[in-house]
Amino acid sequence: MTTDAQPLPRTAPEDKSMDDLVALCKRRGFVYPASEIYGGLRGFWDYGPLGTQLKNNIRDWWWKCMVECPPLGPDGEPVSIVGLDSSIIQNPKTWEHSGHVGGFNDPLIDCTESKKRYRADHLLIYLIREGDLNFGVSTVAADEAQAEDIRESLEKTGDPPQGFQDKLFVKRLKQYKGGGYVTFKLGTTATPEELAITFSPEGTKQGTLTEPRTFNLMLDTYPGPIRDEENKAYLRPETAQGIFLNFKNVLDTMRVKVPFGIAQIGKSFRNEVTPRNFIFRSREFEQMEMEFFCPPDESQKWYAFWRDERYKWWLSLGVSEENLILRDHDDDELAHYSSACVDVEYKYPFTAPGFGELEGVAHRGCYDLTAHSKGGDNKDSNTKLDYFDQELQVRLQNEGVDKETIKERSRYVPHVIEPASGLTRAVLVLLCEAFTPTPDRDGSKYIMSFKPKFAPVKAGIFPLVNKDGMPEVAQKLYNELRTKHMVEYDGKQSIGKRYARMDEIGTPFCFTIDGQTLEDQTVTVRDRDTLAQERIALDQVSAWLDAKLAE
Ligand code: ATP
Repeated sequence: MTTDAQPLPRTAPEDKSMDDLVALCKRRGFVYPASEIYGGLRGFWDYGPLGTQLKNNIRDWWWKCMVECPPLGPDGEPVSIVGLDSSIIQNPKTWEHSGHVGGFNDPLIDCTESKKRYRADHLLIYLIREGDLNFGVSTVAADEAQAEDIRESLEKTGDPPQGFQDKLFVKRLKQYKGGGYVTFKLGTTATPEELAITFSPEGTKQGTLTEPRTFNLMLDTYPGPIRDEENKAYLRPETAQGIFLNFKNVLDTMRVKVPFGIAQIGKSFRNEVTPRNFIFRSREFEQMEMEFFCPPDESQKWYAFWRDERYKWWLSLGVSEENLILRDHDDDELAHYSSACVDVEYKYPFTAPGFGELEGVAHRGCYDLTAHSKGGDNKDSNTKLDYFDQELQVRLQNEGVDKETIKERSRYVPHVIEPASGLTRAVLVLLCEAFTPTPDRDGSKYIMSFKPKFAPVKAGIFPLVNKDGMPEVAQKLYNELRTKHMVEYDGKQSIGKRYARMDEIGTPFCFTIDGQTLEDQTVTVRDRDTLAQERIALDQVSAWLDAKLAE
């Protein structure tokens, strides 16, 4: 018997409930609050069996696309990228010279009434003017994109964007509606006058916010027995610096020449002031970063290349195009050493209809290698991090360029293009993208419609009933498939309940052994998204599944 395909109902990001998604993640073993039995710890999460599998699938795909089979470059030549796994704790001088000790700060504001803490640059103030009177109303935006969105909507319509959930903010707006409106973000420059009229987002009175204080985002620790300033070290706030520190090691020990990249995946730690939105902003998270070293005069070409490649990579995860944008940074957003930066942004349920960051592709110039290089401002490093370009030297010689110029141009500090993304944020993107409420379907109320390649469990294998020789055939098929893929055997409960569970954990295919199997050696395969059922030969199942997972 075959059953026709039904389209998977589509849900706009703004209609997806984060509460329902978080509950499903807990119920089905994707993500749990860390140390839950002790009341949890803010900003920390544990990945359950299915979350870990999903995360590993994304991680492995990134590694494959970056290190094992990188794409062809802009000139059609194979791109060369090598892997690295550097230590989380490095010599603390690393962070002084990278600029993190002095500059990796967030402006922090406390509310003396609610005892809550906010990032000042996320606090959006809506100031209503009536005659000489000012009434401040505030809210905390999830990020820059949401702040921008709220501000735009307020300025156009006087109301926050559709689906905006801060009820207190909306109530206060209504209370004061009628005057002229001004919106602004507090930021580090909040004046005492502004603070005096501002409502704390969760407080009841005006003027309970303290002046912003800068707050370093690095978590520190003290390796060794003595806990004093001299022995202070840091948990890395990004994986990138470990790559810069090893630039010379890799160059001297591997057969690489500029242009080439070094890629790394690993944990990073930031003492975020306001960890929020589930695993979007946590204090411990994983990053996937690649530093691509190239000759300075080729850097724009490589920047354009990685900008496009990275967008395509996110699409390859099954993220739909309408939920993914590239946002070029304005000049005033760029770090002083950076000539260009673009964010890949996703329409999360909590930013929709706006977008939030998931990866930044930055042109970092020669900033990092110079900062860690012996000489100049750096009296701590014992190594010069530059590059002698032998090919360029030969080319210039052939062009008849004079010796002095050749010497000058052949040795340089490579420029760096950095695609830096969050692995745990990628998990969130795939969870949000896959999460599909299906209230009108029988059985499961939600489907996690992961692209099959990334689904934690690839297939369920079921005997229709636990008798008549069906379990034996199903077990045999399971034993065959489990040597290659993450699959599950399930013989308990009704078939409908088994399908429903597989839908909720995002298993794309279910193979069911029934009475007909025993007669004609075929099984039904059910598609999670379309519910279509078709029969395929039992001895073809393994090849059929391989082909589907390769798509
Ligand atoms: P934000 O402005 O959101 O704090 P950022 O611009 O400082 O982030 P980067 O330093 O560029 O972020 O880090 C690269 C990537 O690492 C980000 O695009 C994001 O995917 C991820 N990331 C950064 N901070 C966190 C965090 N606290 N929790 C989870 N992922 C994070």
